Amino acid sequence: MSTRTVQADRDTCVGSGWCVNLAAGAFSLDATGKVVVEDPEAVRAEDLLEAEDSCPVSAISVELGFVPESE
Ligand code: SF4
Repeated sequence: MSTRTVQADRDTCVGSGWCVNLAAGAFSLDATGKVVVEDPEAVRAEDLLEAEDSCPVSAISVELGFVPESE
């Protein structure tokens, strides 16, 4: 089973919207123009990583993991 841990630092976010453009569904902007993490499962893992890389203030943290099925 894969796991995705996505965090966004709203204090650091400058509202550029890159993450929303690259991974709509995983991120949105609220009424104040700050990022909100929505559903990280809604997009491809590559899109999450691209959003993380593209944030101009490094406000996004994405950790992808894999948990073996227990027997
Ligand atoms: S890319 Fe970074 S600065 Fe831009 S909206 Fe997303 S979290 Fe905020």
